[in-house]
Amino acid sequence: MYFPLSGNRIISLAKSLEESEEMIGRVNRFLVIAIIICVPLTILISWLISGKAVSPIIALANFGGQLREGKLNKDIEIRTEGKEIETMVDTFNKVLENIRNLSETQKRFTQDISHEIRSPLTSLRGNIEVTLRKKRTSEEYEDVLRRNLYDVIRLIRIADDLLFLAKADNNVIDIRKNWFDVNHLLSATIERLDHNSIRFSEDYKEGIEYYGDINLLEQALSNIIQNSIKYTPEGGIITVVTEEDENSVYIKISDTGLGIPDKDLPHIFDRFYRGERSGRSSGTGLGLSIAKWIIESHGGTISVESSLNSGTTFTISLPKTE
Ligand code: ADP
Repeated sequence: MYFPLSGNRIISLAKSLEESEEMIGRVNRFLVIAIIICVPLTILISWLISGKAVSPIIALANFGGQLREGKLNKDIEIRTEGKEIETMVDTFNKVLENIRNLSETQKRFTQDISHEIRSPLTSLRGNIEVTLRKKRTSEEYEDVLRRNLYDVIRLIRIADDLLFLAKADNNVIDIRKNWFDVNHLLSATIERLDHNSIRFSEDYKEGIEYYGDINLLEQALSNIIQNSIKYTPEGGIITVVTEEDENSVYIKISDTGLGIPDKDLPHIFDRFYRGERSGRSSGTGLGLSIAKWIIESHGGTISVESSLNSGTTFTISLPKTE
């Protein structure tokens, strides 16, 4: 700073800038160091944070790869604090469980079908091969044909039952409902079945009308009654009772037959399940699963009680709907 004075004199004041320049230099150096440290640090921290957030999604994507290769046996295990990811993993695991169950059922079903079809086919082949070994009389040929017819009928029944269940699984069974008389249906079904020395006792509440698919329900009742006939020794009695209240129609079918062991009871409605006491009797193990499907497709239920060597009771309840 300059201050002019009289007589060409000037006062000049000055302060050294060295200190300030040093300070600016220090600030500049600090800023450079801060930038050098902070930029990579920020990148590192963002990378770590985003990595943590994205890692469950990457794990899910890897898991998808595993599924594509058909490895269904392991659940997804991802530890995360995110609620949304946790819900997604749970849902994934539930879907996976369903796929595993379906694939297991399909595998068992295919094995069962092969087994069921193989035995009549093996028997047919055996009969034909033995018969063809030498010339036979016409009576012998007739006898073989009769035996073969039994196996062919069995194969046709298996095919029909399987076709029904396949249609049921694909929801392509037409349920055509009409009003019909339940007692008439039961009497007609019993009359149609062969029951030799087994007696039927029919105890019906008068005038029970039901709105349902008469053909399907006839098939269900016929499967259940046929079992009662099949598993009841000669001289036994099968009692059929009908009841109704304002909500439902009830049908009870009781026999004085072999009964069902406790260990079989939870499985008798499963496909292809044949109880240990069914022995060599004819059957595919599909009759009760078809009956159950038909009753449930009407919104109804079927239950069973049994006591060994004294008999079995099936109770069907069908809700009244229109
Ligand atoms: P199946 O063709 O073997 O009769 P079902 O599905 O109709 O097949 O029945 C399954 C199994 O339930 C039978 O193999 C049999 O062991 C048992 N079962 C069904 N009904 C009766 C019954 N009334 N008395 C004794 N056992 C029965």
